Amino acid sequence: MYKITKSGWIEVITGPMYCGKSEELIRRLRRVKIAKQKIKVFKALIDDRYNKNDVVSHSGNSLEAIPIEKADEILEQIDGTVNVVGIDEAQFFHDDLIEICEKLADRGIRVIVAGLDRNFRSEPFGPMPELMARAEYVDKLHAICIQCGEPASRTQRLINGEPAAYDDPVILVAASEVYEARCRSCHQVKG
Ligand code: ADP
Ligand code: ZN
Repeated sequence: MYKITKSGWIEVITGPMYCGKSEELIRRLRRVKIAKQKIKVFKALIDDRYNKNDVVSHSGNSLEAIPIEKADEILEQIDGTVNVVGIDEAQFFHDDLIEICEKLADRGIRVIVAGLDRNFRSEPFGPMPELMARAEYVDKLHAICIQCGEPASRTQRLINGEPAAYDDPVILVAASEVYEARCRSCHQVKG
């Protein structure tokens, strides 16, 4: 592969829950550290599933990250010495994340963005579709469907064990809900 040398670029790592986005982000950033480049890692504050200050994968790998509520906090924390910016749970940010990623890449920074491509209704999620269109590199990963074992491209939301309804809010930080990976034919949204 030819390496880009005249500018930075945007890489997107996407797919459903459990497809390995965080694992892949952590893998890439560890290698950047080994190369002794300076990195800054951010994550949307809303995801506090294990630890507020880390990117944590479901298999237990972790990497220190700065929790932020709004994407413009990223620009405030980047100076001329940063080579690589990592952003996890990017689907939760507003659309201003797109221009911020473009700006960072224009400045020569490698921007690695990980996030869900679809919400539980199977619709494109937040700034992810446009980021995928603008990125130089996109990796769309698959999980394993919990129902049938095929590659899973979707995130099933279950509330009290039942498929969530279309009208249930996309972001609900509440108790009795579970998410699992499913394929196109096993994924269900209650009408
Ligand atoms: P993501 O960030 O995409 O949610 P993670 O990187 O946190 O994914 O976790 C990926 C890991 O989750 C896998 O390596 C595997 O150990 C575990 N896992 C649990 N359930 C599944 C599943 N249904 N399909 C694939 N991996 C799964
Ligand atoms: Zn299936």
